[in-house]
Amino acid sequence: MEDCLFCKIVKGEVVSYKIFENEKAIAFLDVNPIAKGHTIVIPKKHFENIYNIPEQDLKDVILAVKATAKILKEKLNSTGINLLQRNGRGAGQEVMHLHFHLIPRFENDSVALPPKSDYLKKDIKELYKLLTN
Ligand code: ZN
Repeated sequence: MEDCLFCKIVKGEVVSYKIFENEKAIAFLDVNPIAKGHTIVIPKKHFENIYNIPEQDLKDVILAVKATAKILKEKLNSTGINLLQRNGRGAGQEVMHLHFHLIPRFENDSVALPPKSDYLKKDIKELYKLLTN
């Protein structure tokens, strides 16, 4: 897409710090990192979100996520990694090109995950019925 920041990164029109690339996907350092090695993995083709990416393209990108996670673990000696993926403005997606955040974790880092909320699970039986009907 013409005005998509991540498509411009794929085309090389915007400079990025690529740490992994194959035929289908690329991984580059997030320019606003919340942790050492915070990386974004995207499909080279433009898909907006999890709802509209075809299955094979999703498989290709998740395999690139795995390859990138291994690079980060091996090079940074992280103790774990979080994957964060947002779909839609309601979920906080800002760049409307499907992407995964890879957030390497370290002992005593200041990253605050998982998300917290006031949601109570007292309606879980009703919800379960709704979702499985
Ligand atoms: Zn795009």
